[in-house]
Amino acid sequence: MHEVGLAEAILEAVEKRAAGRPVTRAKVRAGALLHVVEPSMGQAFQLVTEGTVAEGAAIDVVVTPAQITCRACGHQDGTHDPLAVCPACGGDDVDVTGGNELVLESIEIAEARDVPGNSRRDRGDPAGSA
Ligand SMILES: [Zn+2]
Repeated sequence: MHEVGLAEAILEAVEKRAAGRPVTRAKVRAGALLHVVEPSMGQAFQLVTEGTVAEGAAIDVVVTPAQITCRACGHQDGTHDPLAVCPACGGDDVDVTGGNELVLESIEIAEARDVPGNSRRDRGDPAGSA
């Protein structure tokens, strides 16, 4: 299950961006050639986030295609297949680039329910501080 390694990389990026705030959701862009399976990634993410700021957070994976360029006819296209042949001429003399990036696109931070500050004093003290 190589998703665990990927999930750990994502968690590292999430923790950096969250800076200690609780995370409810992370959105990730994963290249097609990483072959990320979303349910497996979800499970792996649950596993590695246990006890972290991202514990219980959901993960959205957006798979981005690799770029295929045909050396024979110059056709360019997106592909999810590392062994793709040119969709225009069927040739296999192609360059496949990209498709292996893993990018943390965004995170959602939980709403702060307890705003730090002196709200207790503002609410009035039964002992009468004024
Ligand atoms: Zn071609």
